[in-house]
Formats: sequence, C-alpha cells, structure tokens
Amino acid sequence: MLGNFEYCNPTKLYFGDESLKYLRDELKNYGSRVLLVYGGGSIKKNGIYDEVIQILNESHKEIAEVSGVMPNPTLEKLYEGVNIARDNEIDFILAVGGGSVCDYAKAVSVSVHCDEDPWQKYYLQGEEPTCKIVPVGCILTMVGTGSEMNGGAVITNHETKLKIGHVFGEEVMPKFSILNPQYTLTLPHYQMVAGFYDIMNHICEQYFSGTDDNTSDYISEGLMKSLIHSSRIAMKNPNDYEARSNIMWTATWALNTLVAKGKTTDWMVHMLGQAVGAYTDATHGMTLSAVSLAYYRYIMPYGLDKFVRFATHVWDINPNGKTKEDIALEGLSAMENWMKELGLVMNITDLGVNENMIEGLADSTLIMNGGYKVLERDEIIQIFKDSL
Ligand code: NAP
Ligand code: FE
Repeated sequence: MLGNFEYCNPTKLYFGDESLKYLRDELKNYGSRVLLVYGGGSIKKNGIYDEVIQILNESHKEIAEVSGVMPNPTLEKLYEGVNIARDNEIDFILAVGGGSVCDYAKAVSVSVHCDEDPWQKYYLQGEEPTCKIVPVGCILTMVGTGSEMNGGAVITNHETKLKIGHVFGEEVMPKFSILNPQYTLTLPHYQMVAGFYDIMNHICEQYFSGTDDNTSDYISEGLMKSLIHSSRIAMKNPNDYEARSNIMWTATWALNTLVAKGKTTDWMVHMLGQAVGAYTDATHGMTLSAVSLAYYRYIMPYGLDKFVRFATHVWDINPNGKTKEDIALEGLSAMENWMKELGLVMNITDLGVNENMIEGLADSTLIMNGGYKVLERDEIIQIFKDSL
C-alpha cells in the first residue's frame, strides 16, 4: 500500500542554457553579504566564476569567498567556512560547483548561528537545526548527487574515519538552483560516468525496498530507462546536449524526495560506499559502483520479486521459460554490462582497499533497516570481501 506522506519541495529550479540570467532576480530576495562557495578551480578555468562575479558586482553584493571545497568535503573545511561566514556576517550562501560544494554550503548554513558543534549535533546525534539557517542558492556544474534539490549534506571526518550524510528538511534545501547543462560539458570523463552511476544508485536505493504496488516505482523505472538510454549517447558523444540535459534532469528527480514518497527505502549501498570513501577518499560514484553488485547479489533472494521486475521492466529481460532466480540474475548481469560499458570502477581493490582494511570498513558502515535484509556485521564483511 502507498503509505501516508506530506510532499513539498521548496527549491525553485531554473533549467537550460540561459538559466544563469535568473540569478540577478533571485539575488534581490536576499541580503547584501554573500558567501561564494566553490571547489578547486574548475569554475575559474571554464569561465563560470567570472560570469557569477560580474552578476554579484552588478547586484551590489559584498562578496566573501570559501574556495577549495574538496570532493568529499571534510569537517575541518566545514569549520573554516563557518568561521569565514561568521567573520563576514553573511546573509546568503551561493554554492557554485558539484554535490560537494552544494552539500558543504548546506552544512555551513546550519552551523553559522549554531552554538553546538555541528559534527556532534547533526552527524553523530542526527538532530535537526534549532538555530537561524542562512539561505543557500546553487549553481550546479556536476551532475549526479541531486544535492541541488534536496536537503542532503555529506561530511567526512578523516580523524574518526566516518563519512556521514545528514538529510536536512525543507528549510535547508536550496532556495533556488540554476541548472545549465552546458556547464557540465567540461567535466572530466571519470567524473561524468561516476555521476551517472550515482544517479542509478540513488534510484535503486529507493526502488529495492518494499513489496507494495506504488506509483513511485513506475516513475523510478522511467528514470532508469532514460538514464541508461542517454548515458549510452553521452558515452559516444559527451557533447550531445540533448543527452546531457536529460541526464541532468534525471539526476535531480532521482533524489529530490519524490520517488521515496509513500514507500520504504534502503540506502545500504551508500552506507557501504561511504565507508569506502572515509578510508580512501575515492570519488563517490565509484565507491558505489565498486560495492553495489556484491550487495545486490547478496540481498536478491530476500527481495526476489522486485529483482525480477527490475530485470523485465528496466533491462527488458525475456522471462519465458526461466526461473525467477535466473531472470533476476540476468537483470543484474545486464546492469553489470552497462556499468562496464561506462568504465566504472567495479571493485574496491582498484580504489585502494585491501583485505586488512575490511574490519575497519565494517566499523565505519552505518546499518540501515529499509532494505530486504537488515545486515549483520558478518554479512557486511562478506559483502566487502565479495567487492575486493
Ligand atoms: P564533486 O565532488 O562536487 O566534484 C567532483 C570533481 O568534479 C571536482 O574535482 C570538481 O572540480 C569537478 N568538477 C565539478 N564540476 C566541473 C565542471 N563543470 N568541469 C570540470 N570539473 C568539474 O562531485 P559530486 O559527485 O557532485 O559530489 C560528491 C559529494 O556529494 C560526495 O561527498 C557525496 O558523498 C555527496 N553526495 C550527496 C548527496 C546528496 O543527497 N546531497 C547524494 C550523493 C552524494 P573543482 O573542485 O575544481 O570544481
Ligand atoms: Fe550518492
């Protein structure tokens, strides 16, 4: 049965190759002191930085900057941004970059006026903000996370080897996001395909849960088919605007809370991948691709009917004359072939993990309970071993 829910997504989107022009109007809604947040320099190379600075200057904003937000932003970097935001008494945060920059901006936004330690409060204790929240806007340059239209903010603590995401509520989601597919065309191939798998896995995490009949799963199947189709075009021609814009739109819908409504979700692949990320600092999408097939093959018997549906609805596997197990396995093999076509990292050894690290990885893995099987510690260890 479709469960009861509330649905509101407050993020306003501007999509398309002219979408930056709406920044000027949006900026009028916020105060004069803007914190511009960006990564390691890609926006300076491709010219987006200059375009944004020009609009901020013409809008008479005072600009403070946090640069060098790294992929998988760290707790130390969060503290640095909070201090800069406080020193400059900022009114608004503008994130220009990928999921790391956008997540980071949200983490800063709930910490600037918070007296407690954000790692303790939000990440270890899972509490909600009780302080004033600084509004955030986002200009997206990397496709995959859905951070542009959700409340997620993942932070890595290298000291304790924990990478944890807090999914904040509506008040923390970006007030607006600007999605220009042209901006994503300068992405290195490795990042582009890692993002494709992040999208696929976000959908799978919400799809492989529950046995009820609900609309969300049909939407998910449509999103997966669109992604598979467009990703093959983008592999042949990364500059194909139609494919890249469809993928950008799919990424947003894959994780903007819609397809999770009225159903349970899993998120165990993200938990395993984030443990790998905490140890290796590897690219997020690749940590997921490296563990997901071992996980799905392990839990398949516990949710067999859904895996059969995945095989027939998403991968067009012909079910005639086959057992459910064979159909389900063929579906996962079809996904594996597509992942290899993309050139994804298919095991954790290639990300720098060895057998001696597996106990530690299991310690860093948070256990979720929405999937077909709540994993015990020895099962987590087995899945990591199967992923080597
Ligand atoms: P990212 O870490 O934001 O960016 C990856 C790399 O791509 C960076 O080196 C960046 O370089 C580069 N890049 C970005 N845009 C570019 C462009 N247009 N041209 C050239 N290079 C570009 O990647 P991401 O996958 O979007 O974000 C990953 C983070 O999001 C992880 O911490 C992950 O755990 C988290 N995450 C969040 C959610 C959520 O729900 N909020 C979901 C999944 C994952 P520069 O630094 O030089 O810009
Ligand atoms: Fe993700």
